[in-house]
Amino acid sequence: MTDLPEYRPETLAVRAGQQRSQFGEHSEALYLTSSFVFKSAAQAARRFSGEEEGNVYARFSNPTVTMFEERLAALEGAEDCVATASGMSAIMAAVLAHLKQGDHIVASNSLFGATVQLFNNILSRTGITTTFVSHTDPAAWAAAIRPETKLFFLETPSNPLTEIADIRKLAEIAHAKNILVAVDNCFCTPILQRPLDMGADLVIHSATKFLDGQGRVLGGAVCGPKVLTEEVFKYLRTAGPTLSAFNAWVLLKGLETLKLRVEAQSANAAQLAAWLEAHPKVARVFYPGLPSHPQHELAKTQQKSGGAIVAFEVKGAREQAWQVVDNCRLLSITANLGDTKTTITHPASTTHGRISPEARAAAGINEGLLRIAVGLEAVEDLQSDLERGLALI
Ligand SMILES: *Cc1c(COP(=O)(O)O)cnc(C)c1O
Repeated sequence: MTDLPEYRPETLAVRAGQQRSQFGEHSEALYLTSSFVFKSAAQAARRFSGEEEGNVYARFSNPTVTMFEERLAALEGAEDCVATASGMSAIMAAVLAHLKQGDHIVASNSLFGATVQLFNNILSRTGITTTFVSHTDPAAWAAAIRPETKLFFLETPSNPLTEIADIRKLAEIAHAKNILVAVDNCFCTPILQRPLDMGADLVIHSATKFLDGQGRVLGGAVCGPKVLTEEVFKYLRTAGPTLSAFNAWVLLKGLETLKLRVEAQSANAAQLAAWLEAHPKVARVFYPGLPSHPQHELAKTQQKSGGAIVAFEVKGAREQAWQVVDNCRLLSITANLGDTKTTITHPASTTHGRISPEARAAAGINEGLLRIAVGLEAVEDLQSDLERGLALI
């Protein structure tokens, strides 16, 4: 499905997957149609039976969605990609496509909050159970395996502390027991990290974040070999959380600037992280690109750079952290990430607010912690914005 595989990422980002119609449009067309017509009754029958490839109904496929899928597959180095309505529906689809009642998941203990809720409160009702283990300790993953374990699920770097899970080692442990490995690659995108190259079986995306990159639409995707994505497709065409054509078109154009954005945002983040680390009011900085990061060496073997997410602890607690947030005039106070506009979040009172204080402390998320998803503004302007609050501490 990936055309132009011999090209480099920047070329694939603007060229892969494009299909021109009879009109010869230069830019990718937006096909706002829920169904497709057939030349004859016989062709309709062939399309429905799958004997002939082609579009039938937009819950199954749409040419704009297909272009997005092929472009993302090319960037991830995947044989195939199936787009979904959101990141969460991509996770749901990947799990339900491959697991059934009685099966078991081993998952990282520092996953996106809604993913934890999905595993604990929704999938558990279908009889699929999950054991959460240390993100950074492969031995804990091995020890949690049961005869019914079918899936390892992780995202790396973690949110918000940017801890690194060792994809190659976890894939080795999983594959020895015929267990699939799914990696949520939302933070790095294929520009910085390609999990399939390191042994992962499935890559999952919330396209809502960096792939769009401009905070406009929700979307998701599951990438991998066709034997695995085919099952995801079967789930989607029946259950229905497919990506809309309009959102696919926005995301397709988002991918064209992905490399430029992710590299520039990551360079800004590296500069901001170094500045924060030297700041007298900052106790600690969490950023995989800094030599002080405990897994800096491992990060270098998996990611091309540190990424665009920086977390840091101010010297103080909630009051001091909130002071920094409330004195920002430029940074957006929102939990979203991956946008060209820099965002700032206080995890302990927002994204991780529903976790008990004890569990939060165990996860290393204290009241002085702030997370910044760095955008494309001038780093000096971001520094001045943060300095206003930091100076008050
Ligand atoms: C946002 C996010 C999701 C969920 O994606 P939606 O598009 O909001 O459904 C999943 N994983 C990670 C790491 C995320 O940041």
